[in-house]
Amino acid sequence: MGKKHAEERKPSRTKTPTFLLELPLVAEAGQAARLDAHLEVGRQFYNAVLSAGQRRLRRMRADPAWQAARALLRTQKQERRAAFSALRERYGFSEYAFHELAKALRVSWLAEHLDAVLAQTLASRAYRALNRVCVGKARRVRFKSRGRGLSSIENKRNDTGLRFVLEPRAEGRPLGFLLWHDDRLAARIDWDDPVVAHGLGHPIKYARLVRRHASSPRAQGADRQGERYVVQLVLTGVPHHKPKHTAGSDTIGLDLGPASIAIVPRQAEARLEPLCAELRPDARAIGRLQRHMERQRRAANPEYYDERGRPKKRGAGAPRWKQSRGYQASRRRKAARERKLAAHRKSLHGRLAHQIVAVGPTIITEKISYQGWQKRYGRSVGLRAPGMLIDHLRRTVVSTGGILHEIPTRSTKLSQFCHGCGALVTKPLWQRWHRCPCGIGPVQRDLYSAFLAAFLDPADPMPSCARYVVPWEGAEARLVAAHERVKQRAKEGQVVPRSMGIPRAGARLPESPSEATQELLFLSKRGKVEAWKRRPEPPCFSRGSLQTR
Ligand SMILES: [Zn+2]
Repeated sequence: MGKKHAEERKPSRTKTPTFLLELPLVAEAGQAARLDAHLEVGRQFYNAVLSAGQRRLRRMRADPAWQAARALLRTQKQERRAAFSALRERYGFSEYAFHELAKALRVSWLAEHLDAVLAQTLASRAYRALNRVCVGKARRVRFKSRGRGLSSIENKRNDTGLRFVLEPRAEGRPLGFLLWHDDRLAARIDWDDPVVAHGLGHPIKYARLVRRHASSPRAQGADRQGERYVVQLVLTGVPHHKPKHTAGSDTIGLDLGPASIAIVPRQAEARLEPLCAELRPDARAIGRLQRHMERQRRAANPEYYDERGRPKKRGAGAPRWKQSRGYQASRRRKAARERKLAAHRKSLHGRLAHQIVAVGPTIITEKISYQGWQKRYGRSVGLRAPGMLIDHLRRTVVSTGGILHEIPTRSTKLSQFCHGCGALVTKPLWQRWHRCPCGIGPVQRDLYSAFLAAFLDPADPMPSCARYVVPWEGAEARLVAAHERVKQRAKEGQVVPRSMGIPRAGARLPESPSEATQELLFLSKRGKVEAWKRRPEPPCFSRGSLQTR
């Protein structure tokens, strides 16, 4: 695969800082029907541009000159770039050419529904989707199906076409409307919300209309089709800061794992936390719905399974799976659940990011390939999205005037380093503790890495033993205390990730209803803990005894 072989810069964006404000819209039945019609035209138009663009891409890639350009060495940067841009020019594969294409496609009745600027932004969107395929970042493009429709449409400016206006009143606060064609959709504005008031005090660059499927037509704020409309305003300036998010002055080391996060500031209290533990019930509910859908699909399509219940191989032209009404309802329920989970995750990420920033403006962490994690830990990473957390944190830090240093792991190797003797020792995944013959430890490995990160010099991120001698004296007790708190929570029945070095079996409260057994179990658990303390080895269990799940 020739990745990144067609160098093309991202569409240039204006440099001024922007932020988003979202306001719910009130759409009456007639208005909703018209919005629906406009968006449907937008969908068809997008698909038309995408299809024409895809033909251009295919022709361009079939050209022998394409293979020749790919064969050029990467060191010959200029020649490569020239070869690819000549090809793009010849086949009309650029954002500008797509705008021209949009002009040609927006004819007759389409033009009545879609103004020129909106058509342009849709063409840019189609171009970006295809360009991802072109540079090897995506396999294919997705056409928007009729059932799903186009979920958003945006303008480039706020003076014509789709736009948002505030109308002052003689008394009371101004009213806000989204204007599109002849419709005026009232926005629900809560002027007492400081975030809203702050946002509306800034100049609007452009507005974006977003349609979201609610779980059912009866959901709050939904229209008869079960759709919700909101307007997203893209504003010039920086977002509002709630006063409670005041920033401290500490420097913080982070160690992010697929399911946990270790936070070790230079002075303040250290923490070891499971990542987004609150999402577990949501994820379980989705899993249940998924299995339910699988059973429904099986019941509706018995002919596609063999006598042992395995799905049969199906060719490309095989008839579609039949979908029962029940199946469709489950699918809607599952989609609603997934949206809820995503929103919940976002708010958890936001809360954690603000908690971290509240301690200090300087954050040091190792740069991790989250894509690699995705391959290794798939489900866990997909649920907790640590990469998104780091993105969120980066934005939060920047908006409070702080800085997030991401140190390349290759040079630091914090997870292997020991500051007592300077040795680099690879720890296998199951080894949760850092304990070195030189006398350092035992200390939970994530907390230890975060400690090492906290005292790195971002300008010269090479860990050296001398650097850590003094900090370690103050930090050791804090790290132990952080792990004690995790142990305490585990004892109270909270499920903690295995990486935290607490054996599962002992982490739960005894579940037996009988009093006597409980006492026995409790005693035996205490005995285990006592035995732990006396063990000469660090308290890490062999893999077999740990993985009880
Ligand atoms: Zn050592």
